[in-house]
Amino acid sequence: MHEKMNLIRELQEIDQEVSSIESTRLGYRNELADFDAATSRIQGMVDELTAEMEDLQKEEAQLQQELVKEQDNIVKVESRLPEIQTQKEYVAVLKEIDLAKKANKEIEDQVLGKQQEVETLTEDLKEKQDELNAVAEKADARRSELDQLLDEAEKQLQEKKKVRDSVAKDVPASLLRKYQTLFKRRGGLAVAMARNGACLGCNMQLPPQQFNSLFRQADLQTCPHCNRLLYVEPEA
Ligand SMILES: [Zn+2]
Repeated sequence: MHEKMNLIRELQEIDQEVSSIESTRLGYRNELADFDAATSRIQGMVDELTAEMEDLQKEEAQLQQELVKEQDNIVKVESRLPEIQTQKEYVAVLKEIDLAKKANKEIEDQVLGKQQEVETLTEDLKEKQDELNAVAEKADARRSELDQLLDEAEKQLQEKKKVRDSVAKDVPASLLRKYQTLFKRRGGLAVAMARNGACLGCNMQLPPQQFNSLFRQADLQTCPHCNRLLYVEPEA
């Protein structure tokens, strides 16, 4: 039984190392995923601002067309002035010109407003684009490091698993199953040391008789509280 317990303890050590490598690997993968998430979040904002910019520019172009039309109109009305016969007609045409000029001024103001909006948006867009470039640059630099780290982790895992298999093949199947179930359910600690009459897996006291029997290493013992497989270090 002593020998089997030694194998199980060895197995647990390897499995704990495997878990640690796997969690490191998960960290690397999460880091990569975070970069992707940040990139697509900022890219989304850039896309939104770009669409807004296109709308603004369309609106400005439309206003510019209206402005041209309005200016043509003023020229047309003014061209009628030399042909005017009566004072009444003259006043009416002047009034028409005045109105056209007012309309013209209004459109000019709107164009200026749009141009200011475009300017502000251009700045926002540049800011976001810079942010995107910075994230991309940082991600690119780190990505190659992470790819390398992931490769290394993968290699380590393959090696550990090879060693694990060679240890596991000498463990009786039923014990191996019990161990594996416990390892999963008990947070990576299936085999616990017992010391001073207590299980160090759950820190509960063991029945004194059971604790004493552990030193005989005659049979496989489990903790009555947490069910972990128990072992003792021979007393010095
Ligand atoms: Zn216990």
